[in-house]
Amino acid sequence: MRWDDLSSAQFRERVNDSTLAVWPIGILESHGPHLPLATDAIQAEWGAETLARAVGAVVLSPMRFGNAVATRPYPGSISLPFDTLRAFVRDTLSEVARNGVRRILVLSGHLGRDHMAAIRVAATDVAEANPDIALSVLSDWEIVYEIRDKPPADYRGVPIPPDDSHGGMLETSRVLAIAPDLVDMRRAPTHIPRVPSPEFRIMLGADRTYPQGVLGGDASKATAELGREVNRIVEARLRRIADGLLKAP
Ligand SMILES: [Zn+2]
Repeated sequence: MRWDDLSSAQFRERVNDSTLAVWPIGILESHGPHLPLATDAIQAEWGAETLARAVGAVVLSPMRFGNAVATRPYPGSISLPFDTLRAFVRDTLSEVARNGVRRILVLSGHLGRDHMAAIRVAATDVAEANPDIALSVLSDWEIVYEIRDKPPADYRGVPIPPDDSHGGMLETSRVLAIAPDLVDMRRAPTHIPRVPSPEFRIMLGADRTYPQGVLGGDASKATAELGREVNRIVEARLRRIADGLLKAP
């Protein structure tokens, strides 16, 4: 069920205080020469729609803009300032709550530190103003990096190198599983080493360190099979998080 597709009458009939609303947030950001700028949005929207089908949630209009400082110099990337993103997310979630929705999951496909902070600060403002709502904020990449660093017992995929990162094997595999027509594997870079940042340094201009736009990992080793396996685990985890929101008093 998509918020956008409902009539106002259908909204009144179908959406109430036990409905879960899932809001996918992405970004337009370079992900190397082989992946689309909307890579993060595509993954978040897949997660939101898959979850909505499983638990009967309503998907709020996808938001394809976010904040990314380090990858901003690459052509085609669009980064909103922190305060703009914070205000937009706060005001949109306030409107969702004003419509009587009391269970909300914000699912970001982008895991930038400031991007997630802007969303979390905004969500906290809305939670404080609406003490009766259950609201969760996460990036699906928080789950994906957990799989990389400590695969769960039921993980059946290939071993994932610890330096796999933005635009690398995992991310390319996930998009191959979701939107294969948007991936150009002929242009997928082979192994890009992850360069450790100086401790506590604010890093701008990732294009200087990573001219190809992949921030670590071997995108050429990506497969749709790996993507489906990672997505399966992400889906199960999202389902548990959604169940928690649906059971919240
Ligand atoms: Zn990404």
